[in-house]
Amino acid sequence: MGKKIIVAGLGHGGIAAAALIAKQGHDVTVYEKKSEGTLGYDWTDIFAPQALEIAGMDMPPEDKYEYKEDMTFFNPSFTKKLQQHVPQEKLEIKMERRDIYEHFINHALECGVKIVYDCEVQAPIVLGNRVVGIKTEKGDVYGDLIIDACGMRSPVRTNLPSLFGIDKEVADNERILIYRAFFNIGSEEEAEAKFKVMLFPGGVKGIGWIASEEKYTDLLIGRFEKFDMNEVERFSDFLRETNPRLGKEKLRGGQFVEIPVRQPPAIMIADGYAAIGDSAFMTVPLIGSGIANSLKAAKVLSDTVAADKDGVFSAETLWKYQTG
Ligand SMILES: Cc1cc2nc3c(=O)[nH]c(=O)nc-3n(C[C@H](O)[C@H](O)[C@H](O)COP(=O)(O)OP(=O)(O)OC[C@H]3O[C@@H](n4cnc5c(N)ncnc54)[C@H](O)[C@@H]3O)c2cc1C
Repeated sequence: MGKKIIVAGLGHGGIAAAALIAKQGHDVTVYEKKSEGTLGYDWTDIFAPQALEIAGMDMPPEDKYEYKEDMTFFNPSFTKKLQQHVPQEKLEIKMERRDIYEHFINHALECGVKIVYDCEVQAPIVLGNRVVGIKTEKGDVYGDLIIDACGMRSPVRTNLPSLFGIDKEVADNERILIYRAFFNIGSEEEAEAKFKVMLFPGGVKGIGWIASEEKYTDLLIGRFEKFDMNEVERFSDFLRETNPRLGKEKLRGGQFVEIPVRQPPAIMIADGYAAIGDSAFMTVPLIGSGIANSLKAAKVLSDTVAADKDGVFSAETLWKYQTG
């Protein structure tokens, strides 16, 4: 008989794992704090489409994605550049984040996953050494396995007992603060590089990118230290001096967000518990790849669940996922 699997948060790895595990005949429910149709940011994301196949998903419709330009990396003084050359078969795709979510969610629903929206997860429910459920704003729910896909600040992971040995807090140097927005095209002048990634731009500890698109210029500013809109304006003006395509009118986006840039935790499982995606810091500093890595992890987790024939879901049986 199928086991009761709870997924906390509709993170990318969580949805993918939910779909794969539901296909095995388990009863899978996801609890997401946001409302239906409001997930994602107002911008595009890049990921390796091969990860979709690994997670058992189809390619999205052709009109929903395009192939990503090669990046060109610049040194702090912009005097040296390093051009990426990704072979055709390894090219990543670029998609609206909302379309990525729609594609993933539709797939999960087809696989039999249930989704409860508008339901904030507050903490894990722990009995002895085992995670047996989650506390939500709509009440407690219990399950045989709790998959934590609530992101970097997950209230499930951060409220686990310390004796589980799972890293809870994220230090300031383990996450990068990001401002991202799409601006109008300031000048039709050809850009020096279509996708320019700047390391420690202008001597500031962080990263920046300017991607010249047909209809807009995509600006990303990343810093370890906190910054505000005054700094965004100062820094964008500084970049405009050498990047005239970066216009002044913001068309879309304009949010401050965080991305984890640390290694995954040495332990991401416990009896009845497995973390996935940003909740287990599966991004790669510099290039991100959080979406593709979450999808690949979903496959490892689903295989681990399948191998656990009696549905024990202990730290011991989940160890295969940890090492995978
Ligand atoms: C600006 C920016 C650009 C990025 N670009 C890329 C890119 O181009 N390519 C790429 O691969 N990755 C990119 N990433 C990283 C990528 O978004 C993540 O690594 C990836 O989505 C995996 O994170 P996640 O889905 O596990 O977590 P999250 O994206 O944080 O999702 C967590 C989910 O859980 C929900 N949630 C959170 N707390 C609760 C709660 N208490 N109760 C219920 N639900 C909750 C959230 O609403 C959300 O739906 C980018 C990230 C940012 C911020």
